[in-house]
Amino acid sequence: MGIEGVNSRIAEIQSRIIALQTQRAGTTSASATSAQGTFASHLQGAIASTAPTAQTYKLNSKGIPEDLAAYGNGKIPETALGRVGNTGHKLWAPAAQSLNGMIEDARRDGVEIGITDSYRPYAEQVDLARRKGLYSQGGLAAKPGTSEHGWGMATDLDLNAKALSWMRKNAGNYGFVENVARESWHWAYRPPT
Ligand SMILES: [Zn+2]
Repeated sequence: MGIEGVNSRIAEIQSRIIALQTQRAGTTSASATSAQGTFASHLQGAIASTAPTAQTYKLNSKGIPEDLAAYGNGKIPETALGRVGNTGHKLWAPAAQSLNGMIEDARRDGVEIGITDSYRPYAEQVDLARRKGLYSQGGLAAKPGTSEHGWGMATDLDLNAKALSWMRKNAGNYGFVENVARESWHWAYRPPT
């Protein structure tokens, strides 16, 4: 075989390689496109399914959602409340929904979150203040008409050490904050604004 023969053989091999590479690139880009399509549709689905919880609220100067404030503290109607799991406890519906999600996720992490108090109608706050005394007088109760429990925006939880540390790490993701000193059971809900 002369040098020309070798050269033409090399040229032939090169063109085959290029053809193979092109084919592979074509395949790769086609599958990438379809993966992209799948990802885009998954993303769209995820956005659609989270849209309702992405609702935001307009707060008054005291941090209470305006719609809720209109009812009055301790006077929230049943229709605006939501049940916590299968307990008798209720919170303002968006807070209940978020708490339920948090309790489920904690359980998945092997953490049990119990609940001991939730929405408190006005009359119950009056009774509590009578029994436990007002904060302003060294007691354990907010003045009736001012408690976060009266807005259905706070819950008292039964937390062991493991659950408390889980809460301190994760509760913020669900809108719950530990906001009363020396009451590590009391968690308030901060709605998205
Ligand atoms: Zn409380």
